[in-house]
Amino acid sequence: MSNYILDAKDLTKTYEENEKKIAALSQFNLQVAKGKFVSIMGPSGSGKTTLLNILGCLDKPTSGQFMLDGLDITKMKEEELPKIRAEKVGFIFQKFNLIPTLTALENVARARAKTGLEIVKLLGKLSFEEQRTIILVTHDKKMASLSHQMMFLKDGKLLKGEKKGTLETEHMDEFTCPKCGGDISPDFVLCPYCGTKLK
Ligand code: ADP
Ligand code: MG
Repeated sequence: MSNYILDAKDLTKTYEENEKKIAALSQFNLQVAKGKFVSIMGPSGSGKTTLLNILGCLDKPTSGQFMLDGLDITKMKEEELPKIRAEKVGFIFQKFNLIPTLTALENVARARAKTGLEIVKLLGKLSFEEQRTIILVTHDKKMASLSHQMMFLKDGKLLKGEKKGTLETEHMDEFTCPKCGGDISPDFVLCPYCGTKLK
């Protein structure tokens, strides 16, 4: 069995439009270990939504294999997927307007008054403290940099040149003020709660 909670091999997804075939994903490979926080960036049309649909078990690839927590999703029947999604996947949309089924993620979703960056920091905590695996698609470099691994998608393929995010090298505690413990951004110079100089 694969050591990865997400293991995608040679995924392709082709859409057909006016008898023209569009390869939204081509020979896509991704392996993510449990508890890792991976962010994916890429221009419009690069295949991000197609990929999330497959990783979230909302859709199946045209070819290739996708294993989720040891289950071969590509071999499953359509009607088996809702149960798998309910048990293994949580979704948080851009506007944070859907409460996922996972309790831990409900906590994140409940924090609607928070900014996007604060939500992403909470996701980082979840991956660290509860070994939740997070896949974040964003156009925001600062948000992406809070993950373990930043990946870049173009024309349905991952570009080489992944970057390590700050989570790979730093503990999330480093995003709290050393004096008062308040939640801060890594780039803050002064703590907004107690005024401690941070840099
Ligand atoms: P992104 O989310 O990065 O903008 P998408 O996954 O939405 O990329 O789209 C990737 C490519 O697949 C684009 O060329 C898009 O036009 C095409 N595509 C996506 N969904 C469909 C669909 N349902 N039918 C036809 N083409 C689609
Ligand atoms: Mg999209």
